Amino acid sequence: MAYSPLLQDLLEALRCLPGVGPRTAQRMAFKLLEDDRDGGRRLVSAMQQAIENISECSRCRMFAETELCWICGAQRRDHGTVCIVESPADVIAVEESASYNGRYFVLLGRLSPLDGIGPDELGLHLLEAQLDEGSISELIIATSATVEGEATAGYLANLAHKRNICATRIAHGVPLGGELEFVDSSTLSLAISGRLNLGD
Ligand code: ZN
Repeated sequence: MAYSPLLQDLLEALRCLPGVGPRTAQRMAFKLLEDDRDGGRRLVSAMQQAIENISECSRCRMFAETELCWICGAQRRDHGTVCIVESPADVIAVEESASYNGRYFVLLGRLSPLDGIGPDELGLHLLEAQLDEGSISELIIATSATVEGEATAGYLANLAHKRNICATRIAHGVPLGGELEFVDSSTLSLAISGRLNLGD
């Protein structure tokens, strides 16, 4: 065996991270052991703290170490508008766009009956209870433009319509600065079907 037992354990542990194969794991481990043991200690401590203390917001399922995440707990946000996304990373992406002031609901997945992912796995009973409270006036459905994402969007829209709540779908289409000839045909097709009236 090329590695000592402890080193072997470390390399295998590092490989639970996305995108980390054997080479990258070795580079990370050797870097920490050769000249950044303090960095390694900080990493261990931060990981331990995060894993033990970060859970889900009881309202939107975003990562949170308190009962409510910082968005659900913020008074200045529009709590009547809920943007539904598939993952915590999507929340960060929308927040970074600085174009939205409502709150979120994080599905932590999308409907996929073949994989055993149904409404319960997506926490939709929690969302339905919030819709029943009557304080939500709009659902913005921002699931991905995939087959499952579209099916999930249809299911969510139905939940809203049953309660006479407005449901909107984010637009999909041509990226800013994108030239049409380089956009794939299904994206272009979505962009055309979701076209906007330029008004007057
Ligand atoms: Zn929250």
